[in-house]
Amino acid sequence: MGYDEIMKLFLERGFLMPSCEIYSDALAGFWDYGPHGNTIKNRYVDLWRRELVRRDGMIEIDGTQVMSKKVFVASGHLESFVDPIVKCEKCNATHRADRLIQEATGQLVPERLPVEQLDQMVVENGLRCPSCKGLLGKARRFNLMFRVGVGAADDDSYLRPETCQSIFVDYPRLFKVMRLRLPIGVAQFGKSFRNEIAPRQGVMRLREFYQAEIEVFFNPERANDLGKYEEVKDQKINLDLDGNMLQGVKCSEAFEQKHVPNKIVAYYLALLHQFYEKAGLDMKKSRFRRLGGQEKAFYAEAAFDFEVETSIGWVELVACNYRTGYDLAAHSKVSGQDMAVLDGDKKVVPHVFELSMGIDRSIYCITEHTYAAEPERTVIRFKPHLAPVTVGILPLVNKDGIPETAKGIYNALKTRYDAFYDESGSIGRRYRRLDEIGCPACITIDYQTLQDNTVTLRDRDSMKQIRINKDQVELTLEKILRTEDVFKQ
Ligand SMILES: [Zn+2]
Repeated sequence: MGYDEIMKLFLERGFLMPSCEIYSDALAGFWDYGPHGNTIKNRYVDLWRRELVRRDGMIEIDGTQVMSKKVFVASGHLESFVDPIVKCEKCNATHRADRLIQEATGQLVPERLPVEQLDQMVVENGLRCPSCKGLLGKARRFNLMFRVGVGAADDDSYLRPETCQSIFVDYPRLFKVMRLRLPIGVAQFGKSFRNEIAPRQGVMRLREFYQAEIEVFFNPERANDLGKYEEVKDQKINLDLDGNMLQGVKCSEAFEQKHVPNKIVAYYLALLHQFYEKAGLDMKKSRFRRLGGQEKAFYAEAAFDFEVETSIGWVELVACNYRTGYDLAAHSKVSGQDMAVLDGDKKVVPHVFELSMGIDRSIYCITEHTYAAEPERTVIRFKPHLAPVTVGILPLVNKDGIPETAKGIYNALKTRYDAFYDESGSIGRRYRRLDEIGCPACITIDYQTLQDNTVTLRDRDSMKQIRINKDQVELTLEKILRTEDVFKQ
């Protein structure tokens, strides 16, 4: 299914809306979550907590979004988190210089090419402004961080471009007060900000977005000393090594054949695969793509992008970076603080393996992979634990005491489940509306309910209906949320 169809559904059914949309000066790259989108986001984060953070015994923090300038001096963002841009001298439009050249010539332009070389390429290829054909000015580096002036002194601070910097700067205290031992994962979910020059494609490239990041700290000399690796080493993943695709390779094979640098990396790639399977992605359309030298972030020794195939091509959902000791060493140098910790009786500066997940994109891709336009209806087959509404409660008719009975059931469920009561329109249309937002189960109350206390339970996926006693509703919903098939009889 296509991107435009999904975005239309998101807009029309209360998943997402452009921020400040009633104003003509609303800016691109900012989106609000509507009620259904917000519920999915919360449920997605719950799943991340359950299947990654708690499963692995990590700890979670919640850092500030405004951070001091020195953090980004140390991290390298002030210097290196830049895009090359050119401005049109006629219409003032700003363009990404590397993309402009790439689109015109078809040749790959590395982001970090010196600006003088970019200027030369603009001239050589006679490039003009794509919007008005005007002349282009000189290229310059544009920093993608949002600057914030703090207090009356307008002190330079920045909105964090990634959540992980809080984890690095909090690490020495966390290690001490939480009595941590290596290896240990520290997780954080929250907002990050990037001042993209040309945000495109709706939720794929946002200026304000949600990340869930995990930094795993470990002793580099003991990167293969990991007992829990045994639990997941047979997990099969798709590995793309410079265009050479290994389908369904076991994580243990990936490690033994040195496609991944150590057992820590192999273990977390397996965990991530299992997480996305539970989130409902079609894993046949997924791959871990190893990044080559030109593509890797400046701090990464090894990097894998977890990507999924969609109607708009392969989309990166998680950047898995082996950041070595880069971050802690850099913060140690600028802050003067000792970042080394004790492992046994030896002092080490831990290395870091990072899983940096984009939440907004993940939700889009899960929706696309589970969305189906069928002849009779549109249906999203969200996993029940992610669906924005868990159960619809529908009186068959609006008379003879049936709505009252239905409301009684709704009132009993509504504080424990995302339940939705709907009495308007034909029963068929009410089913369709709930199918369209991915609600896994509907309960219909009819004349028979008044006689024998049974209700109809309808399955979203098969449209099959069974009758259950109304005392069994809660138990059945629990089973549905655990993805047990309650409809096979
Ligand atoms: Zn122009």
